[in-house]
Amino acid sequence: MRILILSDIHANLEALNAVLEAAPAHDQVWNLGDIVGYGANPNEVIDLSRSLGSISACGIRSVFVRGNHDKACSGVDGFESFNPIAAHAAAWTHSVLTPEHLEWLRQLPAGPITIENSQASCAHGSPLDEDQYLVDLNDAHLPLASAPARINFFGHTHVQGAFATNGEDWFHIVPEYGGDGPEEYELPLRENARYLINPGSVGQPRDRDWRAAFALYETEQIDANILAQRVTFYRVPYDIEQTQQKIRDANLPDRLATRLAEGR
Ligand code: ZN
Repeated sequence: MRILILSDIHANLEALNAVLEAAPAHDQVWNLGDIVGYGANPNEVIDLSRSLGSISACGIRSVFVRGNHDKACSGVDGFESFNPIAAHAAAWTHSVLTPEHLEWLRQLPAGPITIENSQASCAHGSPLDEDQYLVDLNDAHLPLASAPARINFFGHTHVQGAFATNGEDWFHIVPEYGGDGPEEYELPLRENARYLINPGSVGQPRDRDWRAAFALYETEQIDANILAQRVTFYRVPYDIEQTQQKIRDANLPDRLATRLAEGR
């Protein structure tokens, strides 16, 4: 099974298109939320995101969990906790979303979702709290130790990488890249370890790398006892100037355009 893992697309259509073009063949898409908010193409990105599951050869839909921006932009939550720029973008997004898309966002499930017939779960923030930020090993300690699933996908921080433990040692895994074209970084998953894995943000990376981020999760039954699993992290360039121009044309705060180039 090959599963495309997407998170924090944030209405960035150019980045999502670049990711889908670069993505290897896959059976399912697991979307970790924050589909909208910040970017200028919320309706287009929702349509495209929803269409991805239907191409699945095995007939299983995409998996979605909601993000805090999906809640704020659709009115499930207020945005009192948002900074002024994020609040401005959420209000703008709410005003341009079609009624159907608003309703679709409102019914997105809260994470974590445990995936049937797998060892994996999906959440936006943490498998223990959908709105929590898992930034460092301190934050990751409790969810790594106590989340029901062994392999937990999460987003929310917009920082690509993984936390892992074998019960004795604790690891923060950061993909190493050297260039600024398309790149990938492979992480074999060990059977005796537990993981928190962040594919990074498609539409607004914050790890000082402007390229769109995503991941591919692969499982392969080697024999009755061995299930080989690995995650590959990816970075791909996209047409950032076009995205920035759309943000300015929509009169969204200019900072939302400039931060994309800085990757923060
Ligand atoms: Zn986000």
